[in-house]
Amino acid sequence: MAEIAEENAAGAAIEARDVDDADIRDTDIEFSCPHCGNSMVIDYRGAGLQVACSQCGETVLVPIPEGMELNDLDLDPGEILKQLFATRRNFQKAELQIAALKARLVQLQETLGVMQEVVAEGIAGR
Ligand SMILES: [Zn+2]
Repeated sequence: MAEIAEENAAGAAIEARDVDDADIRDTDIEFSCPHCGNSMVIDYRGAGLQVACSQCGETVLVPIPEGMELNDLDLDPGEILKQLFATRRNFQKAELQIAALKARLVQLQETLGVMQEVVAEGIAGR
């Protein structure tokens, strides 16, 4: 039952979108990535959150529009729960990427070792 709730909640997670392919609402916050300059929009409920850039994947702090009361946003436990699930999911995704990159690194180091042996044999064989 908890799993179903998580699926539903994560489906409506607050995420940054590219300006190009998004129909921007009046309430959306427009901002750009300080790492790559990518222009994005996000639902107003994303104000003050850390989100992943839709282009480079770096963490970006969503600006808080002038006059916006963050307290209004923080009162909805459902939204906080949704964001928690989304954050947890992003974290798991990042951990999987790290594991995959570590495995690739080991492969590359092995390949490098073999190549170094071949080169050493080649030099010795002359
Ligand atoms: Zn970026």
